Amino acid sequence: MRFAGKVAVVTGGAGGIGRASARLLAEQGAKVVVGDLNQAAGEAVASDIRAAGGEAAFAPVDVADYESVARLVQTAVETYGGIDIMFNNAGIFGDGSQNVIDMPIEAYHRMIAINQHGVYYGIKAAAEQMRAQGRPGVIINTASIYAYIADKNQFPYHASKAAVIGMTKAAALELARYDIRVVAIAPGMIDTGLVDQWRQDERVWNTIQKAHMRRKLGTADQVAQVVAFLASDEASFVNGHAYFVDDGAASFKR
Ligand code: NAD
Repeated sequence: MRFAGKVAVVTGGAGGIGRASARLLAEQGAKVVVGDLNQAAGEAVASDIRAAGGEAAFAPVDVADYESVARLVQTAVETYGGIDIMFNNAGIFGDGSQNVIDMPIEAYHRMIAINQHGVYYGIKAAAEQMRAQGRPGVIINTASIYAYIADKNQFPYHASKAAVIGMTKAAALELARYDIRVVAIAPGMIDTGLVDQWRQDERVWNTIQKAHMRRKLGTADQVAQVVAFLASDEASFVNGHAYFVDDGAASFKR
């Protein structure tokens, strides 16, 4: 119960990585606010956590809208009395169909609004509340190995995830004086709804698997274990960096 007495907010909490993390944080004692655009799925996650004996509430959020993110943090304050852990995790992926020239500018802006601005809003809203509380906090941002290595036809995704790494460093430096740690995770390909679009195509699926040293996608639970570690006091000297959770995918030439 390493998170007993702590309050965590998880964006994208209805999806693969967010759901697994919300469950694990709750299992280890945190009171969790599950935030997501998908109301039905988010409510189901919160109610599953409660059924398993944990504490959780769902709150709708669109991370592309600052007011919405600020309301999400406020829900944590009103429901559980504050916020100790903010997991800025909501994100979308491209369909890989268009290159940097042909992709509509609107598609770029949408990706940046969710994956990049959404993380900024989460950092800002959570840190403001944490500073007001006057006690230590942790902010975890979901980046990707695609912050570091390029794939074709995912231009805005790369831009957004590289920005998450930059924001993590800058926020960690600025928030250190309030004893708020800011870290990121950089997952490889994880078997969630995000990669569903390629599941039926055997050739593409094999290529994705082979991108990892042990030739398998990761699971959301494997990522959640790292999220929980980073959120815990055991990671008290980890700050301003991204943690790779990628079975070496970003470390070898394929
Ligand atoms: P997922 O699709 O299962 O979950 C994403 C969740 O985010 C969904 O529940 C969705 O409803 C929510 N969401 C989308 N837009 C939102 C918005 N505007 N406001 C609030 N919620 C919104 O995918 P996942 O794999 O769990 O992805 C979580 C994070 O992990 C994303 O940031 C993604 O980029 C990142 N990531 C995923 C992989 C992977 O291979 N699955 C790899 C690296 C990084």
